[in-house]
Amino acid sequence: MTLGITALGSGSRGNSFVVHSPEGNILIDAGFSRKELIKRMEHTGIDPASIAALLLTHEHEDHSKGCRVFCDQMKIPACMTFGTREYLQKKQDEKKIAKLPSSIEVFNPGTPFEIVGLKITPFAVQHDAVDPVGFVIEHGSCRIGFASDLGAVNSLAKLRLTDCDMLVLESNYDQDMLRSSDRQYYLKKRIMGRHGHLNNVDAMEALPTLLSEKTKLLYLVHISSECNCYELVRKLGTETLENIKRNDILFKVVEQDTPIQTVWLKELHGDCKQLDLFA
Ligand SMILES: [Zn+2]
Ligand SMILES: [Zn+2]
Repeated sequence: MTLGITALGSGSRGNSFVVHSPEGNILIDAGFSRKELIKRMEHTGIDPASIAALLLTHEHEDHSKGCRVFCDQMKIPACMTFGTREYLQKKQDEKKIAKLPSSIEVFNPGTPFEIVGLKITPFAVQHDAVDPVGFVIEHGSCRIGFASDLGAVNSLAKLRLTDCDMLVLESNYDQDMLRSSDRQYYLKKRIMGRHGHLNNVDAMEALPTLLSEKTKLLYLVHISSECNCYELVRKLGTETLENIKRNDILFKVVEQDTPIQTVWLKELHGDCKQLDLFA
């Protein structure tokens, strides 16, 4: 059994990841234009025609920007929660701007479904969107946990994201940098709330619980360009892994404009797995 992940980019100007199974690929979020998505896929050696479906975490533009055009051009469905579909439909009706692709599949948080041999379990997260989710994606005994926009790692998120072979988690902002930024008060309050974004301290505090002996890869994502910096998150993540003696984990900070080539997780025998870098 194998499972792979490619980070096309992450941050407030766009988020997209490709998850690979031996039977095909899926796109998680389409936060870039169709043209940019295709450029980033080609840069990482992914044939855009290999994408079987798009999974949306929520309706925010940095996750849904290329949804309609990419899905319609590739003739693939966009899979989303009922609330996300309703919201995009409402925006489409109000603004007379097409937002939804012609093929939509609605999923329910907590109910697993299957695409290209991947078992996908969406779970509700705390974020200021209509019906936002994270995902657990499994192929055989290989598992990816994915949560890119969440205000808090609550008990459900802990349950879903614990014990994954690969973990993708938000580490959005540094509290001091956000406080001293010239963002408006209401925006600061929104970001810092339990339905906003996960800060560096909360992300680092969650890691010792979420990472298990089977974890091989950690990506920290959705780093704020104004209220955080890649070097700081890299330093904090490295220190956290050192403290729990887990420097063996492949750890990367996913940047806005630098895609990371595919990393494959290969099952060796039984539950023993190995990362295959850039294969
Ligand atoms: Zn969001
Ligand atoms: Zn976002």
